[in-house]
Amino acid sequence: MSDNCLFCKIMSGQIPTTKVYEDEKVVGIKDINPLAAKHFLFIHKEHTANFSQMMEIDPQQALDILKAIKKYVAESKMEEEGFRIVTNQGHFGGQTVAHTHFHLLGGAPLGPFGEQGK
Ligand code: 5GP
Ligand code: ZN
Repeated sequence: MSDNCLFCKIMSGQIPTTKVYEDEKVVGIKDINPLAAKHFLFIHKEHTANFSQMMEIDPQQALDILKAIKKYVAESKMEEEGFRIVTNQGHFGGQTVAHTHFHLLGGAPLGPFGEQGK
């Protein structure tokens, strides 16, 4: 938990959200500003600022998130339909929230990578 972190506040319940997935380590929520028919954010309960920091501190956390996404897509139609996983880092990556998160996008055909969706 990091003070003044939006996603830490969401996960502790201080800010309301729509959860689509939760296990001991990872939470999946609906993105507030969806860029695809289905747009979810998978977030580790341990705070790290970005992908690089997560990989330096505890790369298992990235695996925890990817395993959670695998479970979620397998239990929804997304595994059959197809989907995209993205993590943004830093200024050029377009990261706006400094708590590592993986976007899960799908629900309809996505545009060419880099043009539509994130
Ligand atoms: P980034 O731009 O850092 O890769 O992704 C941050 C994402 O968080 C954006 O897609 C944005 O729409 C989403 N977001 C920002 N504030 C909130 C919020 O309060 N609740 C939810 N559910 N998503 C948020
Ligand atoms: Zn945080």
